[in-house]
Formats: sequence, C-alpha cells, structure tokens
Amino acid sequence: MSLVQRSLLGPGPSNPYPEATAALGAPLLGHLDPEFLRILDETCERLRTVWGTANRRTLPLSGTGSIGMEAAFANTVRPGEVVVVAVNGLFGERMCDVAGRYGAEVVRVDHEWGRPVDVDAVLGAHPNPSLVAAVHAETSTGVRGDIGALAAAVHDRDPDALVLADCVTSLAGIEVAIDEWGVDLAYSGTQKCLGVAPGLSPFTISEHGWARRVPKPPTWYLDLGMFGDYVGGNAAGGRTYHHTAPVAMIASLHAALGRILDEGLPQVWQRHREAGERLLEGLAELELVPFAEEGSRLPELTTVWVPDGVDSAQVRGRLLSEYDIEIGAGAGKYAATVWRIGLMGHNARLDRVELLLAALRRILGR
Ligand code: PLP
Repeated sequence: MSLVQRSLLGPGPSNPYPEATAALGAPLLGHLDPEFLRILDETCERLRTVWGTANRRTLPLSGTGSIGMEAAFANTVRPGEVVVVAVNGLFGERMCDVAGRYGAEVVRVDHEWGRPVDVDAVLGAHPNPSLVAAVHAETSTGVRGDIGALAAAVHDRDPDALVLADCVTSLAGIEVAIDEWGVDLAYSGTQKCLGVAPGLSPFTISEHGWARRVPKPPTWYLDLGMFGDYVGGNAAGGRTYHHTAPVAMIASLHAALGRILDEGLPQVWQRHREAGERLLEGLAELELVPFAEEGSRLPELTTVWVPDGVDSAQVRGRLLSEYDIEIGAGAGKYAATVWRIGLMGHNARLDRVELLLAALRRILGR
C-alpha cells in the first residue's frame, strides 16, 4: 500500500508546516536530556506568545485537544458546582458531557447551530456559576464566538467566576488574547492552525484559575499540579518525573511555533484571513451558500450548504480520488447537507484555495 500526499482541507488534521514534519525525523532526545528540557521550556515560552499570555502555567499536555478539555474541567470543577456551557455545536455539547462527568451541575445554553454565542443568553442562564465555558472556533459549524465579550461580561458580574475557552481551531489561525480578554483557562490542539500532527494539547491557566483549582482531582494523569512540576519545574527549581514526555511531538510543536513566530503572528492571522475570504468569494462564484452566520465566519474553517440534488459523499469521494483533496462532511444532523473546508496553518494559502475551487467547479459542472 502506498501513502499519497493529500491536501487535508477538512476539519481534522491539517497538512503540517514543513518545519514540523522535518522535526519529527530528527534524532530522538531523552525526555530528561538537558537539550530536550531546553526545547520544552522554549516551547512553553513560544506558546505564551501565541496565546497572548504571561501565564506561568502554559504547557503542552500529552494528548489530543480533548485532553485539554478534560484537564480544564477535572482541575476546576467540584461536585455540585454550577458550570454554564454555551452550546452552538458539537464541541460545546462535548464540554457539557465532560463537565457532567466531573460532577458539575451543568446549565447548557443551546443556540441554533451556525449562530455565534449569545453573551446575554449565557449570562442570563444562571446568576452565579462557578465557571462559564464556550468554544472560540466551533469546528462543527465554522462559527467564531466572541470570547472577549463573554469573559468581560462574566467577570463584570462576578470576578471570582472562571472563564474557560476552547481554542482548538482558533490558536495561531485567528487572534487569541488570553490576558487581554481575561480568560482563566484555555486549551488547543496541535493538528489545526498550529500546523503539527495531532497529539498535543497546548494549555494555559491563569493565577486566578490556579488559586481556584481542585487540590486533588479524581484523575492522576491530568492533575495539573503534578504535570506542572515536570513541565515548568517544581518549587525547588528541579523537575519531578511525571510521565515520559512525547519528545518527538514536542520537538515538532517547537519547530512549528518557531516558524509561526518567524513569519509573525499578525501576518499568520492575515494569511488565514485572506485565504478564507478568497474561498468564500470563490464559493459564491460557484453559487454555493455559506452555512455560518455572516459576521461570525471563521476564515480557517468555512461551512457551506451542499447544493440541492448534489450527493455530498460522492463529491467528497471524487475530490479525494481524483485530486487528493479531503474536505469534511457536516457535523451532526448536517452530515449530508453541509461541507466543512479547513484552511489551517500551512494550508491557509491561496494556491490551495484555487486548486480546491477549480476541482469543485469541474466536479459540480458549474
Ligand atoms: N474542540 C474543538 C473545537 C475541536 O474542533 C476538536 C477537534 O476537532 C476538539 C475540541 C477535540 O480535539 P481532539 O479531536 O484533538 O481530541
């Protein structure tokens, strides 16, 4: 069997930055090798820049994006505490499930899919929740939530409440400003706009979040206290072994972050914006109609209605077999009626957009 190089324009893993792929092939370092520890420290420092935070506890968790979600709830929720979750897609739903498993009394604020988070509705759902959670970039719908406005409103009412943001599909694709927005906890995933393979979950927690954390969460692996002593060093200035760090993945993330910061974060955001705008324009030329509400569309993940009479799976199959381009089906009840097209990280480029548009034009006969 031969593995072909596909253009991964779906919501799943994106094509990695070449620097990230090259780093995966470098000789392996031991997880306690001083050179690896230097790379790890520098990775955390680079993550702080990309997150827009000075949070000391900023680190890549070993696991995919969902592990960041799990760590966030595991370390902050005490049984019976009220957690309000904005649900405007699949990942808001997942947050409710995870928070509930850690004993939260979950108050879910449902929105129509395709619509952004309604700050007033979230605020009005409960007078004094201990934590409010929302997804910044809903990969299931292609919608951006205004996390800055949400965090400001929550903290205006109760400075003690925690705000948690899922930034799996936003980090290094659109602006994320953890400190400026006042977000207490956030997590991401490496496989989207960071342009690395799936496998790590960049995570950050504020001092306020840290002060409010559960001292001994019901999970050993995701106890941030133990994790943090390994990644960031313990109070005595040493490192406490916690688990064998996935050294190759961290080297790969380190390389991708270096590439992103060399290009310049604002320039990277602009590259995503331009690619997303051109895609929307080209889709309109093909008379395809966007799914996500105007004004809240993500440049890195575009959702579009499958035209009437067109077989979604057949078009996706032809894109894959004839052009090596993978785009995503819709999520949930939109599986057969919406397409999800990702332009993330290394894929946020006009040449990728033009290739996809030309292939779609041909397949749709437009
Ligand atoms: N949150 C969002 C917004 C996502 O898009 C995803 C994955 O696509 C996740 C969470 C879960 O991440 P993972 O699949 O890497 O565990």
